[in-house]
Parts: sequence; structure tokens; C-alpha cells
Amino acid sequence: MDLKSKVLEFIDANQEELKNISDYIFDNPELAFEEYKAVEILTEKLKENGFTIEKGIAGLPTAFKAEYRGEPGGPVVALLAEYDALPEIGHACGHNLIATISVGAAIAISKVLSPLPGTLVVLGTPAEEGGGGKVIMVEKGCFTDVDCAMIIHPADQTMVDDISLANTNLVFTYHGKAAHAAAFPEKGINALDAAILTFNNINALRGHLKDDVRIHGIITKGGVATNIVTELAEAKFSVRALKRKELEPVVEKVCQCAKAAALATGAGLEIKTEGLDYDEIMNNKVLTSLLRENYLQLGEFVGERTIEQGLGSTDMGNVTQVVPGFQSYIGIGKDLVTHTLEFAQSCKGPAGYQGLITATKALAMTVLDLLVNPDLLKEAKEEFRKTKEE
Ligand SMILES: [Zn+2]
Ligand SMILES: [Zn+2]
Repeated sequence: MDLKSKVLEFIDANQEELKNISDYIFDNPELAFEEYKAVEILTEKLKENGFTIEKGIAGLPTAFKAEYRGEPGGPVVALLAEYDALPEIGHACGHNLIATISVGAAIAISKVLSPLPGTLVVLGTPAEEGGGGKVIMVEKGCFTDVDCAMIIHPADQTMVDDISLANTNLVFTYHGKAAHAAAFPEKGINALDAAILTFNNINALRGHLKDDVRIHGIITKGGVATNIVTELAEAKFSVRALKRKELEPVVEKVCQCAKAAALATGAGLEIKTEGLDYDEIMNNKVLTSLLRENYLQLGEFVGERTIEQGLGSTDMGNVTQVVPGFQSYIGIGKDLVTHTLEFAQSCKGPAGYQGLITATKALAMTVLDLLVNPDLLKEAKEEFRKTKEE
């Protein structure tokens, strides 16, 4: 029997166990950086199957690395596991499936790894929904010894490509001067006016930005009483664009809007960033074409990812900027929208289970392609280098 058939047979024989892992994570939803139960079950399964486990990597208690070595040399292939849930609606983004797909594929491949050269790594990456676990893991060097990194996310349809926006969050704090708003208005400096003018300036800027740029803001502090000139105001903005290098000048212009508003009102201004910067995703075409081929072999229809489907930002973007990799998709129900109750229901239901098994197989087959034919990784690295230069 060839290696692929062996891997597929192993996954078929272990369908129930994969469903159980996925359901356990689904039934025990944990928020960003608190995913202890998910980490426990995933590392337990990997350990049972001969992986060495390191928990709490990158200074994150719920991040982990599991490793299984074949013969010396060969590629180091990383499969990523997300497992955080959302407040109130639980696993409405299907991270229970993501984690199980990567762990299931890694275990299946470990059964045929010897005598192939290569190393399998499962990286447990916490806090995708908020906190940017992968950004921290990239910064702490978790990907320096990795040749490629892959993840499959559930969606309304199966797709191998992905598009996401680079994102920077800004916080503007305006310092004015309090005064009686009726009796001594001339003695006050209105920080709220500075915040409002920032919005107006940005709205003027919008007319001269590319279509992919998104700027959305809120006022988080606007004053304490109508008869006191607002002394302290604060506004927060998210600025996004298809590419980090196009985003940087826009961020600069947004800051100029805030500075001009402060100048006009006489308020002081502090500018800070909040949270971590997400980079745009850069799926590696060599790797995604292998996955596409494997999906097709399994009889899965592969749709196209388009801008019209709506774009967000993900910390997987930062990973794909440092190593060849992809975030691809497995369909678990037509017209489903992530972060809804309907999506959650599908993540623990027949369509979710079917997606789980198909994606585990396709991912495992893709890893096997890379282990059996090391030239493919060379091509992927060349593609990565070229795309970075664009
Ligand atoms: Zn999500
Ligand atoms: Zn998600």
C-alpha cells in the first residue's frame, strides 16, 4: 500500500476519536489565553502518539510545541492549532475543528514518517480572536526553525487561497483644559472638539484613499458633564489595508489628522498603538496548489477566495510573512457566516464532522507530498522569496 493510502486509512479508522477531540473542545469553550482544557487534550493525544511536548512556549501558558522526528534531515513542517472561542457564542469560528485537523493530520503522518527524513511540528497558537498569539510567537522566534506552516479554517466553502488585511490600532488621547462651559468658555480648551475634528479630518482623507483601505473609529472618552469644557478625550481607530507597505503611509496620514485637530483646538495630543499589528496573509502558491490537488483527489469542490466575500485581519498573516505557509478553508455549510450561532451549530454537526475528516486528510496528504519530495519545499521557498520582493 502506498503511503497516502496508509495515511487515509489511518484517518478513517480514527474518525470517532477525531470527532471526540473536536466535540470536547467545542463543549468546553475557552477564551483567548485561557485555553487550558484544549491544550491538555491536544497535547495528551500527541504525547500518546510519541510526540515530545513543550508547553508554555513564547511566554504564553497556553501555547505549545509538539514534535515528532523522522530520519535526520528533511523538512520541518509545522501544522498550527487554534483553539480559542468567542465570548457567549463559544466556538462560532470553528477553532475546535482547526485544532483537531492539525493534530489529526500530524498524528496520521507520524505513523508513516519513519523511514522518511523530516520533522513534524504542531504549534498550539492561542488567542487568534483577540490577543494575536501568533504575532507574539513569531516575535519570540517560534518559526525560525520551521520550513513551512499550515492551517485550515472552516468556512462556508472549501478554498485554498486567502486574503486578509494588514491592521494597526491607534489610540489618540487629547488633553484640554476644563472651565465652566457657560461662564468662562474662553478659559477652556475642548478636548472633545479635537476628537470630533479628527473624525472630520479622516472623513476628508477617505476621499483620497484606495478602495481596500478601511478606517473605523470610536470615541472612548468624551467628557463628564455638559457644563464642563471637556478636559480629556480619547478616540480609537483601526486602520487596515491589503498590504502593510500601503498601510504605513495611511497610518501616518491618520496621525496627521489627529495632530491637525489638536492644533486647531489647542489641545495636547498623545498617540499610541494598541494591541499587535497584524500583517496581510501571503498564502504560498506552491503549497496551496498541493492542497488544491489533494482536495480534488478527495472529491472536494474548491471555490475561489474573492475580496467580495469580505475581508478581516488574522494573526496567521504574520506567520505567512516569515515562512512559506497558508491559511486555507474547508467548507462546512453553504452561506454560513462565521461568528454566528448557525456557524457554531455546524462546527458540532454532520457537516462539521465531514469537513473535519476531509480537511485532516487533505492536510496530511499535503504534508506527505512535502516529505516525499523535498524539491517542492525548495520551490515553495523560492516562491516565498519572490512574493516578498513584490
Ligand atoms: Zn473568528
Ligand atoms: Zn477563526
